[in-house]
Amino acid sequence: TGIYPFAYVSNPARVLFGSGRIREVAPELERLGCRRAFVVCTADQKDLALRVASDCAAQAMFAEATMHTPLGVTETALSQLRAAECDSLVAIGGGSSIGLGKALALRTDLPQIAVPTTYAGSEMTTILGETKEGRKMTLRSPRVLPEVVIYDVDLTISLPPGLSSVSGVNAIAHAVEALYAPDTNPIVSMMAEEGISALTRALPCIVTVPSDVAAREAAQYGAWLSGICLGSVAMGLHHKICHVLGGSFDLRHAETHAVMLPHVVAYNSAAALAAMERVENALRQPDAAAGLFALNRTLGNPLSLSELGMPYEGIARAVEQVMKDQYSNPRPLEAAALHSMLARAWSGETPH
Ligand code: NAD
Repeated sequence: TGIYPFAYVSNPARVLFGSGRIREVAPELERLGCRRAFVVCTADQKDLALRVASDCAAQAMFAEATMHTPLGVTETALSQLRAAECDSLVAIGGGSSIGLGKALALRTDLPQIAVPTTYAGSEMTTILGETKEGRKMTLRSPRVLPEVVIYDVDLTISLPPGLSSVSGVNAIAHAVEALYAPDTNPIVSMMAEEGISALTRALPCIVTVPSDVAAREAAQYGAWLSGICLGSVAMGLHHKICHVLGGSFDLRHAETHAVMLPHVVAYNSAAALAAMERVENALRQPDAAAGLFALNRTLGNPLSLSELGMPYEGIARAVEQVMKDQYSNPRPLEAAALHSMLARAWSGETPH
């Protein structure tokens, strides 16, 4: 098969990768011509953020970033940022902190430095999810894209093994869906396969020895590539269904992704043979869905939606919501098949 026609757009971020690079926040701010940084993080990571804020002589800090970027939190942060006359943003942490940084950048157009400490990949996308009165809305804007991203492996060592492994499978999900996206291209596919491969090899080592620096670096590298995939091409049924489940039943983000991925892959596998072959190559397994299910088992990840707290009666409502708008997906969305898939995922059965 030859190379098919495609469009490829790369996002203009400067990426610094490696141990100890957190020390480069200050010179990077200087390079951007900024002197009054506003540092954001979640309450859990306040100590780390305080150290960075002190290193770069930040003007102000906000340590109340919250999952799913609630509008009220953004507005409070925005008024503090304006009162302190800040000229730049530094977001340190997982998708929740990076999300707040992006929400502030959308409203101020200030330059951003993102310092991710999980494998969610938000720093590589123009996507912003915000919650208003419990409803999550997603938008895309180049304004939210960080100018600089610093991947410092040292900051990921403290990510607990359980969180690391669900966050890592969340990253694999971005790459898997990129392989069968209608607008995929050879460059993104290459990054997707490499991302899945790096994460699959690294995550079991991290679960056994959380301080394994080489494994942590490989996972961060894989998460970076997967984040590019997420930001570059259209996501399909997996992301749609996780969005619906997270929003309707308040299920945790990364855990929901980990549980659902093998089931959605099984749903799509016959309709996306070439993509599945690449997933299988990356996993070094003969069957993509079974391989991903086995990976979750090896990692000790949750295997069922029931253990995440979803009520069985919620399945019908979730199917109804997924069916509401058509979504790009290799296999058409069929209500009965989706219902069986969710029932299997709910009870933690093997995907098929
Ligand atoms: P998170 O940012 O909520 O982090 C989970 C918890 O882990 C937090 O309490 C955090 O303080 C802690 N933590 C983070 N890094 C740590 C570390 N290295 N050591 C110890 N503790 C650490 O979770 P997440 O899964 O990274 O992000 C989820 C959020 O990101 C969701 O709101 C999701 O919608 C969003 N997201 C957005 C995009 C996008 O492109 N817009 C992409 C992926 C995720």
